[in-house]
Amino acid sequence: MGPMTALRVDGLHVEVPEGASLLDAARAAGTELPTLCHDDRLRPAGSCRTCLVRADGRITAACVTPATPGADITTAHEDLQTLRRDAVALIASALPPHALTTAPRSELAHTCRALDITPPPATAPTPHNRDESHPYIHLDPDLCIACGRCVRMCDDVQGTFALTLTGRGADTVVAPGTGGPWAQSDCVACGGCVDTCPTGAITQPGPGRGITTGQPHPQHVRTTCGYCGVGCALDVVVSDNQVSAVLPALDGPVNQGHACVKGRFSHGYLTSADRLTQPMIRKNGTLEPAGWEEALTLAADGLRAAVAAGGPDAVAAISSARATNEENYLIQKFLRTVIKTNNIDNCSRLCHAPSAAGLSAAFGHAGGTDSFDDAEKADCLLVVGANPVEAHPVIGARLLQQALNKASLIVADPRAVGLAHHADVHLRPRPGTNVALFHGLAHVLVAEGMTDPDFLRERATGLTELIDLLAHYPPARTAELTGVPAQDITAAARLYGRARRPAILYGLGVTEHLHGTDGVRTLANLAILRGALAHTGRGYGIIPLRGQNNVQGASDMGALPDLLPGYGRVTDPQARTRAEAVWGRPLPTRTGLRIPEMLQAARQGTLRALWIIGEDVCATDPNSHRVADALDTCPLVIVNELFPSRTTQHADIVLPVASWLEKDGTFVNFDRRFQRVRAALRPPAAARTDFDVVHALAAAMGADLGCRTPAETLAECGRIAPLFAGLSHTRLDREGAVAWPCPSPDQPGQATLYTRAFTTPDARAHLSAAPYLPPGEEPDTDYPLLLVTGRRWTHYNSGSMTRRGGNLLLEAHDHLDLHPQDAARHHLTDGTEVTVESRHGKARLTARLSDELSPGQVFCAFHFPESGVNSLTSDHADTVTSCPEYKVTAVRLTHTTT
Ligand code: SF4
Repeated sequence: MGPMTALRVDGLHVEVPEGASLLDAARAAGTELPTLCHDDRLRPAGSCRTCLVRADGRITAACVTPATPGADITTAHEDLQTLRRDAVALIASALPPHALTTAPRSELAHTCRALDITPPPATAPTPHNRDESHPYIHLDPDLCIACGRCVRMCDDVQGTFALTLTGRGADTVVAPGTGGPWAQSDCVACGGCVDTCPTGAITQPGPGRGITTGQPHPQHVRTTCGYCGVGCALDVVVSDNQVSAVLPALDGPVNQGHACVKGRFSHGYLTSADRLTQPMIRKNGTLEPAGWEEALTLAADGLRAAVAAGGPDAVAAISSARATNEENYLIQKFLRTVIKTNNIDNCSRLCHAPSAAGLSAAFGHAGGTDSFDDAEKADCLLVVGANPVEAHPVIGARLLQQALNKASLIVADPRAVGLAHHADVHLRPRPGTNVALFHGLAHVLVAEGMTDPDFLRERATGLTELIDLLAHYPPARTAELTGVPAQDITAAARLYGRARRPAILYGLGVTEHLHGTDGVRTLANLAILRGALAHTGRGYGIIPLRGQNNVQGASDMGALPDLLPGYGRVTDPQARTRAEAVWGRPLPTRTGLRIPEMLQAARQGTLRALWIIGEDVCATDPNSHRVADALDTCPLVIVNELFPSRTTQHADIVLPVASWLEKDGTFVNFDRRFQRVRAALRPPAAARTDFDVVHALAAAMGADLGCRTPAETLAECGRIAPLFAGLSHTRLDREGAVAWPCPSPDQPGQATLYTRAFTTPDARAHLSAAPYLPPGEEPDTDYPLLLVTGRRWTHYNSGSMTRRGGNLLLEAHDHLDLHPQDAARHHLTDGTEVTVESRHGKARLTARLSDELSPGQVFCAFHFPESGVNSLTSDHADTVTSCPEYKVTAVRLTHTTT
């Protein structure tokens, strides 16, 4: 605990942290004051005058007055109570009568009840000017008291600046800053304004109306968001097995009372009419409903037949970054102990496999070096190949506040989006030239003496080779290779190099390349050159912003063809022996197939059974026509899914499964924190959790996987994997979040990964001297544009969940963003239907002109499978990990004719 301030409140001695307000001091003394313009997450405003106290004889608003040592505060005198009551009554009296009746759960209604203020008698209905244009947020300006909480929430927490107070005097109300309806404003529907509004002027429609964060609801379940890898803690309010509201937890370890449109509002898919609720079996070419027993028997017979025909390696499974750790653990255990193959992989293969490979090679472990909480203390942020404002919104918001308030910001990304608008230096490398850019930055660090010689001498290796290589990457040559002006490279290197505590965060713009692992390693070079790691006190290392909710955990649990739970190699006898001792069975010794190799083996006829769990590979994997060919060739394809998908169209057996709101277990977020996932709802009809399905299929094959419950499963995993030995559901229930490594129950989780030595074989950080090599595709006369794919804030991955709800009203189809010069050259305007062609396929999109792109580059998301974006992307993949090169595809545009 830091320095404290001692003072007296109504005669009581209290101590509050230095910098606290008189409101904090009053609360410490057990006194509740009305606070209509105050929210602990926001800058205090002191405008409503409802928290008046007397401090050393002077009447003042407690929320904006600092607690000073020795102050003598009075809150309870009758005159103060009268003043506060009058202030609240005055505010309430300016509202229409329905203010306290239609928003009975509002903070204003609660305060009026507490102060015995009765609403004025109902009179003629007041004129309403409601804005109900938005699917998730409605505004009733008649109830606005102009406290400004929503505006501050939007500015100071979310960083979107979408709201403003308009009008004069008593007519002042909140409104979208763009002036039109809410749905057409800049709002990104984080829900912060809904949560903080004290009167019910801003609400979410439907059964969640009036339920807000900070007002504990009796029927809520605490869980962890199942969309992105940020890992927001959410309180799910349930009624009759239906979600009424999802609220960000104020004490959420990562989100601290914040969320985004997906976690907060996008749960309409749960009750979608096309939810799969019973198994389906293909008969005569058509998927037909079946019972579980029939489906499981058919699946078990098919797996046995595949093994009989081609041996255990004729079977493979693609596990899921959406599934819990316990489900991933169980699936890989099934493959390794029942089928006896290491043919298990997960979709980190398509996104952050290069992070695991690159960070392991550089430092030892397959995770970011430091925690995000630490990175938030950095005085310089280098954000590379990531658009967290849209893809990781809560982290994006926190980074933005950091950049606005205290840190310099370098963004390296081809597009001018999100944080780039606020960057001190925005580097815009041509897609596919990251390695050259990172070498250019490293060149300046070395040339200008901005390295840490002691760290490099004592803790790192590979400096000589790197310095030799860097001689080829002076800023002028790097500028030629990357398209980034030499002076910008120098300016960025100086900002990073001269910062006292810099941090690097990066995303898929670094990994999804032909040389993605080299990209991660050469980016890590910068942190190593500066010795910038939390444990050295000179920075906060390098942190990957992992995409899906549990993509870190799926790999942690060993859903990988070469690694067991906790990253022991399948080829390492010691690691195998440890797992064999727990599982009681010998393990296969040959490294299994990666996802692209599985698909190739299926096309070649050597893979005879493929089990796909929660992945729409026909929509999300590159060169999707070839993926479909692979599934059509494979004799048995089993798919666990929530909805019919492109992939289920090619399945022989479809098993209906539970969503993240219907299951129990744990996820690991992007900075290695284990958090609990708890079932808020029962799965619909006959749908089961993946956990139950794996057990049932194992049983159908005559095997018992043990691990009766998710809690038992995590405990067993800890016996194999020392990294997780200290974790348990009981502990997570108690502590909320625990980072790995956590080697024993009596040790805290290690948010800072390396507190002493690195875990490479020689305990040193390894610099990489990999040269820059060009991407798999470059523009030419036939395909003159470069396509980059990525995410938008409105949807999530293939959109299977976000397209089944209100998000569809926010964005109804995929767009192709292109620079106005390219649009003019192709005679395209905003809204023109355009066909995008690559050497691999065609997609149909709607043109959207944007100067966020450089000329010659186009961008689209992949949230609508029917647009066919992933038929465009190539088979080029990271040379180390096989991660597809989604970020660089040469394309051309034509007008869509039909
Ligand atoms: Fe969920 Fe990510 Fe949004 Fe948080 S930021 S609510 S984890 S999608």
